[in-house]
Amino acid sequence: MEANKANDLIVQEPLYKKVEISKMTHSEAIEILFYKGYVDCFCPYCEKPSVFSGKLTIEQEQRKINLQISLSGSPGGNRTRKLFEKPEIYQLEFFCSRNENHILNVVYKVENETIVKIGQSPSSFELQRGEFKKYKTILGNSYNDLYNAIMFYSSRSGVAAFAHLRRIIENYFIAKAYKECKELPDWNDIKYKEAKFVKKLDFLKVKLPETLTQNPRLYSIISKGIHELEEEECLLYFEALKECIFLSLDDTIEENRRGKSKKKIKSELSRIDNKINKK
Ligand SMILES: [Zn+2]
Repeated sequence: MEANKANDLIVQEPLYKKVEISKMTHSEAIEILFYKGYVDCFCPYCEKPSVFSGKLTIEQEQRKINLQISLSGSPGGNRTRKLFEKPEIYQLEFFCSRNENHILNVVYKVENETIVKIGQSPSSFELQRGEFKKYKTILGNSYNDLYNAIMFYSSRSGVAAFAHLRRIIENYFIAKAYKECKELPDWNDIKYKEAKFVKKLDFLKVKLPETLTQNPRLYSIISKGIHELEEEECLLYFEALKECIFLSLDDTIEENRRGKSKKKIKSELSRIDNKINKK
């Protein structure tokens, strides 16, 4: 659990997002600041998914021990608070398991009882690039929106990031659902075309991915006009909406794969039948 938190902070979280130390245990805070476990992500140098592992210098190990000793001396007391109050910088280094010249650097600043990631190279956007590259073929033109959404999120531009995800909903999911709904016998196209965005979503509900329609909170945010969206709200819901989109796209990839396999089985069997019949 702790390891995942440290990993996610590096791979997924944007710069300058504050992580409250009071909301975690001391050992969790130390695990993040002196993390030397694995970082599971895309290596932009190898251009492949990889695993990076961290190494601490002797000085860092010593600093970690000193901090642990100071913390154990005053659990939750004033002194503990002071330890994480004054500004301090923590630097981490991780090495690609394929090539140790592929280095991932992360810089944290601790102050006022918060941990803030203030620097990273390669960026979290670069580390996630491999994860969403697989959607390029099925998303078509909407792939650029996904690319931009993740890029904006990694620089903490909430509304811009969210707006691009919403464009994927409009131009990919809604367009696809509309195409399917139009074929339904009781479909009223005039009514649909006159409807506002929220109502349109309702019309298409049966053909939209369940992950989108069955989460009322997400559904209501997607329905909001761009001018109604707020920066913090967008940042808060970005990951959830992105995961919903990924989940639906994964389903489509899986369906396509199964479709292809079935076709292959069918053609293989008919080839055998032909062979037998010829005998
Ligand atoms: Zn690499």
